[in-house]
Amino acid sequence: MQNNENKNMCKTCMLCCKGMGCEVSPLYDFKAEVPTKEEIISMLKSGKFIFDWWEGDVNGGDRDYSYYMRAKNKNESGYKNGSWGGECVNFSEVGGCSLTWKARPFGGKSLIPKMELTGKCVTPYSKEVCAKEWYPYNELVREILDELED
Ligand code: SF4
Repeated sequence: MQNNENKNMCKTCMLCCKGMGCEVSPLYDFKAEVPTKEEIISMLKSGKFIFDWWEGDVNGGDRDYSYYMRAKNKNESGYKNGSWGGECVNFSEVGGCSLTWKARPFGGKSLIPKMELTGKCVTPYSKEVCAKEWYPYNELVREILDELED
């Protein structure tokens, strides 16, 4: 994906990053082709990422929760949280996102900068799209969360 970062605009806005950590894609944000247990654990233990969930089954099935990973918020601890918002741990007022473009989650990369600073940037990569991508890995996610929270 082409780097569309605009630090000058982000410094004066960053509403997205102040409102919620961005979504991590299982398809584009992992070293291997699919997320491995080891890499997921390593990301969670870095303190920069956490699992959140879509309430219910994002594909219309019978799951109570559909887990997806996102950047962690400053008001969160642990490895999972169904958050309604908070400022991302990777955000600073001075420099914006502390992650390099390469290390930034797909949710942050896919933001389309808003030229007039009247509101949030837009993105085609929503929580719902992300939760659908994570759907096949939810059993692994639950196994990892059970292990880490024991
Ligand atoms: S990881 Fe970076 S781009 Fe994503 S919400 Fe946090 S500060 Fe913003």
